[in-house]
Amino acid sequence: MINETSLKNLVSNPSCMDDYDPNAMPVAKAREFIKQFLNPLSVFETLTLAESLGRVLAEDITSPSNVPNYNNSAMDGYALKATDVSASRLMVIGTAFAGKAFEGTVADGQCVRIMTGGAIPKGADTVVVQEKTVVDGEFINIIEAPKPHANVRYAGEDLKLGQTVLATGHLMRPADLGLIASLGIGEVRAYRKLKVAFFSTGDELISVGQPLQTGQVYDSNRYTLFGMLTKLGVEVMDMGAIADDPILLENTLLSAATQADVVITSGGVSVGEADYMKLLLAKHGQVMFWKVAMKPGRPLAYGKVGSAHYFGLPGNPVAVMVTFYQFVRDALLRLMGQSSPVPLPMFSVQCTQAIKKMTGRTEFQRGILFADTDGSWRVKPTGAQGSALLSSMSLANCFIVLDETVGNLEAGAMVQVQVLDGIV
Ligand code: AMP
Ligand code: MG
Repeated sequence: MINETSLKNLVSNPSCMDDYDPNAMPVAKAREFIKQFLNPLSVFETLTLAESLGRVLAEDITSPSNVPNYNNSAMDGYALKATDVSASRLMVIGTAFAGKAFEGTVADGQCVRIMTGGAIPKGADTVVVQEKTVVDGEFINIIEAPKPHANVRYAGEDLKLGQTVLATGHLMRPADLGLIASLGIGEVRAYRKLKVAFFSTGDELISVGQPLQTGQVYDSNRYTLFGMLTKLGVEVMDMGAIADDPILLENTLLSAATQADVVITSGGVSVGEADYMKLLLAKHGQVMFWKVAMKPGRPLAYGKVGSAHYFGLPGNPVAVMVTFYQFVRDALLRLMGQSSPVPLPMFSVQCTQAIKKMTGRTEFQRGILFADTDGSWRVKPTGAQGSALLSSMSLANCFIVLDETVGNLEAGAMVQVQVLDGIV
């Protein structure tokens, strides 16, 4: 297991760094390496259920009762004894509503009109649906016998008293809010929000709203980072666009690292540009610069600045998004308290177009999953795949993940895709 001291050694001892094959570190290896440094936050807070959406539980939720709490009817109909299912005619002795039980007892030859959710009355254990009956004054005639014990929802069928309903480390989604509410619990302990500071680096960057001169570009990375981080449910701190000026960079980095749990920068980690950041990070932290065997997103830095985690992402707008989803997302979810974050789902589909691809690196091409004319889902690339073409990310609803062994592909080949859209 590599700890922070060994990270320091790796940085100060280049021969040790060579063990990590900095010329082309496989994607999976870089991911595994980073994972070793990720201990979850240890600050918790109590939240109302509504506030806990998107947060990570810091306690096990144990069921204080059975859900449902009592045997009840799954249908509108009549509650009767199982021994009477073949009886053709039963006397109706009362009504059980959801929320208003029938207090009497059902005897042989009797039944109780019952609504969905109504408590099964004493003596009864079966429900015949109303569509299978004909009312005849105070009696019903059963026209099709139910199976004994049919249409009953049993106490504890959903959740049992004492059961661990959700465990520490669980990310709260809409169903979980409802599930915990169904137990009558209104507050939960959660990990506090992760604070993530980010800034862009580059002399050429101009913020939106200002005129652009030749040679300058608008800083788009801060906006995509803002979006990706906000969607992940962290507290964001936008530190601006910083020129490639050692003093400005140093001040911004230190300010970010003292205020946030994680610092993310974009730009300035590619060969020839990394020198500023390298010097700075060597002075204030322990950071490794890698060339990852991937496209886009080859340069990547990870380390610590003080106690903050540091991710140095490439400057190219698509590379920022790809490295975020392939490395940073999983890391942040772990820091947020998730013990084993669900990876972006990956599966095979047929690609309708030919793909150009070099072996020896993993490519994350931007793809569009679509329902083809025969109803089958297939994928096609968004078009040109340059790592500066942010429009390709906007068009995409998936990454087409082509691993190191994959070369050029003919139209119709099966490819792996990672879906970017989700509903929960
Ligand atoms: P770098 O990694 O700093 O060498 O930047 C690589 C490319 O990405 C260059 O063309 C930069 O102009 C561009 N770039 C860097 N940062 C940003 C940004 N924040 N917004 C848009 N483009 C950027
Ligand atoms: Mg730059």
